[in-house]
Amino acid sequence: MAHLVELPTAFIDKARAILGPKGLAQDPVQLAPFLTEWRDRWRGSTPLLAQPDNPKKLAEFVNLCATYKLPITPQGGNTGLVGGQIPQGEVLLSTRRLTQIRAIDPAAMTLCVDAGVTLQQAAEAAAEHDLLFPLELASGGSATIGGAIATNAGGMGVLRYGNMRDLVLGLEVVLPDGQLWDGLSTLRKDNTGYDLKQLFIGSEGTLGVVTGATLRLFARPPTQITIWAGLEQPEDAVKLLAHLRGGFAEQISKFELISETSLELVLAHMNDARRPLQSRTPWHVLVEFGLSDTQDAMDQVFFALESAMEQGSISDAIVAKSQAEANALLALRENISAAQKQQGAAIKHDISLPLAAIPDFLQAAAEAIELQAPGTRFCIFGHLGDGNLHYNLLQPVGMKPQDFLAQRETITGLVHDLVHARAGSFSAEHGIGIAKIGEMQRYKSPMELSLMQSLKQTFDPDHLMNPRLWFEIAPQDKKDV
Ligand SMILES: Cc1cc2nc3c(=O)[nH]c(=O)nc-3n(C[C@H](O)[C@H](O)[C@H](O)COP(=O)(O)OP(=O)(O)OC[C@H]3O[C@@H](n4cnc5c(N)ncnc54)[C@H](O)[C@@H]3O)c2cc1C
Repeated sequence: MAHLVELPTAFIDKARAILGPKGLAQDPVQLAPFLTEWRDRWRGSTPLLAQPDNPKKLAEFVNLCATYKLPITPQGGNTGLVGGQIPQGEVLLSTRRLTQIRAIDPAAMTLCVDAGVTLQQAAEAAAEHDLLFPLELASGGSATIGGAIATNAGGMGVLRYGNMRDLVLGLEVVLPDGQLWDGLSTLRKDNTGYDLKQLFIGSEGTLGVVTGATLRLFARPPTQITIWAGLEQPEDAVKLLAHLRGGFAEQISKFELISETSLELVLAHMNDARRPLQSRTPWHVLVEFGLSDTQDAMDQVFFALESAMEQGSISDAIVAKSQAEANALLALRENISAAQKQQGAAIKHDISLPLAAIPDFLQAAAEAIELQAPGTRFCIFGHLGDGNLHYNLLQPVGMKPQDFLAQRETITGLVHDLVHARAGSFSAEHGIGIAKIGEMQRYKSPMELSLMQSLKQTFDPDHLMNPRLWFEIAPQDKKDV
């Protein structure tokens, strides 16, 4: 059980005066949903939940915590997958009441929002002006703009639109001492010294609390076409991507790889899910095109698929004939994580690799894992266009969940060593949180760790913002691979 920080009575009185009765909670029933997370891997504790309803109150509250040297864990939609948002005794600071859509400028294609606005709400606000906010996660109904910035979230549209870092023009941030930094620029060009906003993007709440952001919007492509194709091997997916890029370049907006095991789980657990192709192949891809040429768009896609079939990279394919069919194909991909949850214990990895190294990695990892834990089921899927795989391993049928999970460290070590040896990353999009602190020590160089620590020291000398996270690792503690 984590040690709860002690809150002096004077602190609580002052906090109540700043936040008002609705902005502060200590009742365990109210706190409970903030202290567990989607994977049910981490449970937390806190002496106080603070929920300010505007950035100024949030800044005053952070300043109060700094005065009393009280550590804080920021939380947005609580959909993070590495445990960084779950407090272990610290004060919990939620942005859920920061919900203003502040401004939209359709001509400049920018949107300014509070940090607690969800990705879905931001997309809806853009859609009202027939514009697109392209960050698409299966968790988008709950995940917040602030959380997506703090984790530099990715998702399915990265191939075309980039990850959160590419979508942010300006930020408003409360620093660990309570100062409010207004960096809400809408400029696309501004070469005036260090680009400070970039330091907060991906910093997982360790350098400050994001309270607002100005975001880039995009024109909606007039024609959207979604296809599903069956493949024999991962090499074919890499070939297909190269082939399609030749004809469509950046007009490919999604390129998702799905293993047959992943598809089978969705078909078994999700009502209304139907196998898209009659033939059964070991691998599948879902591709979405956002095309500007409305006249010949469908013909172009058919032509590209026919030639891919002639070259042997796909064995069968269908093209969605309506938005409903496209949504059904997309749901097969989006529901894999939910379906997988019902299959018992899983050891998950969010990795990225150079595209060309993916087939060889998959082969080497399958062999190593079969030796270590025979019968492990491989639920592999991900944003192949970005070289990002969700490499999830499910307990062998008949094995006790705890026996499989007892091997987590060994299995994850095997997987991450193989990724590292191929110049890949052990965390492509979910971040470090408390889940991957060991990996930071193992794979980051002492120079990188030391630079990160210097930044932390500059922004947060008392180490009050998310103090349990990875920036606390001392370079001298580094263990080599
Ligand atoms: C079903 C499902 C699918 C997902 N798919 C994807 C995917 O495709 N791609 C992807 O990248 N992620 C994905 N995720 C992970 C998650 O949704 C993202 O990491 C998301 O960006 C987290 O946002 P949040 O608001 O829920 O943040 P939280 O979970 O609340 O917090 C995450 C981290 O950010 C910090 N933080 C939160 N808000 C702020 C703030 N305002 N200022 C400073 N720090 C803050 C927290 O302290 C914590 O360290 C998925 C999660 C689920 C459950």
